[in-house]
Amino acid sequence: MDGKKIVNLLQYAENYTEYYSKLFSNNGINTRDINDFTKIPFLSKADIQMNEKEIISDEYDINSLLLERTSGSSGIPLNCRYDKNERIRRSLALWGERKKNSSDIMGKKMVIFHAGNRRHANSTRNGLIARDGNTLYINYLNVGDTYVEKIYDALIEFGPYMIRCQPSILFELVTYCKRNNKSTGDIQAQYIELGSEYLFEYIRDEIIEAFPGAVVANNYGTQEFFCVAYSCPNHNLHIVSEQLHVETVNEDEEGYGEIIITSLHNYAMPFIRYKIGDIGKIETKPCSCGRKEPVLQLKSGRTSEFFMYGSNKVHAHIFKNCIESFNVLKQKTFIKQFQVIQLKEHHFEFKIVSDYTSFQEELRTHIKSFFLEKLGIELEIIVSLQEQLAIDEKSNKLKVYNFIQYDKV
Ligand SMILES: [Zn+2]
Repeated sequence: MDGKKIVNLLQYAENYTEYYSKLFSNNGINTRDINDFTKIPFLSKADIQMNEKEIISDEYDINSLLLERTSGSSGIPLNCRYDKNERIRRSLALWGERKKNSSDIMGKKMVIFHAGNRRHANSTRNGLIARDGNTLYINYLNVGDTYVEKIYDALIEFGPYMIRCQPSILFELVTYCKRNNKSTGDIQAQYIELGSEYLFEYIRDEIIEAFPGAVVANNYGTQEFFCVAYSCPNHNLHIVSEQLHVETVNEDEEGYGEIIITSLHNYAMPFIRYKIGDIGKIETKPCSCGRKEPVLQLKSGRTSEFFMYGSNKVHAHIFKNCIESFNVLKQKTFIKQFQVIQLKEHHFEFKIVSDYTSFQEELRTHIKSFFLEKLGIELEIIVSLQEQLAIDEKSNKLKVYNFIQYDKV
């Protein structure tokens, strides 16, 4: 553990943020004593939502910070902020990891699969496929066959060195190619970076087989922190310890516990002992790749879900985008939590937790026009306000997306 960095962060947070100043004083935390670090209560998504402004340092103007919106698999929209220097630091850390696996990767042709909603949203992120210099942007929201065909053709024409994609989306491409006797090898990618969701071994193996000769790397990243851990040639996820302190708590007998992350450099909005919601195990035994950083074994994490609509196969991400766009419109975290239930193919219920009332009709209209604009599909929508959302008894978690399951053809 990088004690000095942590103590510096704790002292800063105590002096410059209302939230941590109160938290530390209420819990008797001595920020000069590194041993008190593990006494600090965890930071939950709900804590961030409720104390967004209080977590931001007095030294920063909220409007000058970069904003990352996330709601991941929790259905809880969050605004995470950091300054330009942190953005550069995060980006350098990620490129540093890539370079360890492929020393000449910088400046090569790259394909980025995206959901069309990112902070950097610009004209290149509109439409299905757009090229900006050496980068090709591909929207992955719809992976119905007609779309995947276009994506495949664009990849062949572009000839990328690197592809950055979610495992489930690339898996869709690979199975599409198998079904249609097309060769993924013809895409000639040299570096595949998977990320944004849990990587199942069978999917990784399919992708390795589909792209012989390519480095297949896994980036365990989150919108809150960017890259948390990155895989080496042994497929071990090494923690990016320079940037983050990662610990696990409440471990089971095998050593798997809840992953808790502290960002070491983001002083603008310190996340100290943040409960990310994933389960993992930290191993410190040496890896033959030569990296010294501990290895994170993930047990679970975010998975991808799709819903079917006609011949469309649509990524659940679109719901998160839609809800976030409504919060942006209202300039507040109007929707604190959401859950989606598919009642019929084109009929969805949105269960919403909010501090506000009487906006159901406005939200309903917003959702309908969002889907019409993004996918050209007309949905029937019910919006219902809830005091709280029911937890799934089996997983003990909120099941955000509840889609009709069709038999696989
Ligand atoms: Zn390694």
